Amino acid sequence: MATSKVAISPMKAVQISKPGGDFEIVEREIPKPTAGQVRIKVQACGVCHSDVLTKEGAWPGIQYPRVPGHEVAGVIDEVGAGVTEWKQGQRVGVGWHGGQDGTCLSCRRGDFRNCRNLKIAGISYDGGYQQYMVAPVEALAAIPDTLSDVEAAPLLCAGITTFNALRHSGAIPGDLVAVQGIGGLGHLGVQFANKFGYRVAAIGRGADNGVLAKKLGANVYIDSKATNAADELQKFGGAQVILATAPSSKAMSELVDGLGPNGKLMVIGAAFDPIEVTPIQLISGSRSIQGWASGTAADSEDTLRFAELSGVRAMIETYPLEKAAEAYARMLSGNAQFRVVLTT
Ligand SMILES: [Zn+2]
Ligand SMILES: [Zn+2]
Repeated sequence: MATSKVAISPMKAVQISKPGGDFEIVEREIPKPTAGQVRIKVQACGVCHSDVLTKEGAWPGIQYPRVPGHEVAGVIDEVGAGVTEWKQGQRVGVGWHGGQDGTCLSCRRGDFRNCRNLKIAGISYDGGYQQYMVAPVEALAAIPDTLSDVEAAPLLCAGITTFNALRHSGAIPGDLVAVQGIGGLGHLGVQFANKFGYRVAAIGRGADNGVLAKKLGANVYIDSKATNAADELQKFGGAQVILATAPSSKAMSELVDGLGPNGKLMVIGAAFDPIEVTPIQLISGSRSIQGWASGTAADSEDTLRFAELSGVRAMIETYPLEKAAEAYARMLSGNAQFRVVLTT
């Protein structure tokens, strides 16, 4: 019998080979999904600030080389053994929550978001800065037909984080909800807050952001450079929730006094220095501070469906995969309007 040679077509991947290393464009063999996994032909992958963790080795235990990327949108092109609920050709996304062990105490309590052995795409395994990636089924979120891959990608980390934090914040329609920061997270936070029926106060630095904030759905814009934002919030009775998106602990600290009775500072902007608050600030008015991290793949689906229903979309700049280094630098510069997405 004649044998024919099967050409193994390599794919392009963008990897980091050591902590602090540069982005390297390499050719790799297309990976095979094992049991419980699927292979995704990546169409778009968002560049998130948390990719710094992979780039700089700031997350413990990363094995290099590693392909970053946890805002992945694509199409399933092969399913591994035992996978019955996902099909070839189905559009799926992978976000920060890259899989849970299903066995730790948090998982046994159904709290998969806080799995003690949480896997993160682009950190625990290779993420979306490549043409094909493999992911466990627990990480998959179905993408609605009306959302493009580029639109879906940033909703899988920036979107879900703001959406999920707000919907678990305790605020109800009509409440005053402030969104601190009009950036990659904040511009989505303002939109979701508006669609949730809150009275939305956007807090930014400088007058320039005001027009955009109002266009995104803010009822009030507070320029924290020109005014004391906490005092301004108190003029409206104080915020029920302040969604703190800009990674500035100082700015967050200054906002605690803007909370109303039983108000909550919901922290999603990741900074490393401490938020300063006195016990008296918390005791008076029974205020609280809470952090929130992302959500499960099911939460991602909720986010995507809500975006589909409500028209919430990220503002996006796209770059081809080959220009990942440039795209990452653009994201880091803080000048992107507002999410950077790689296309393959
Ligand atoms: Zn992210
Ligand atoms: Zn677990």
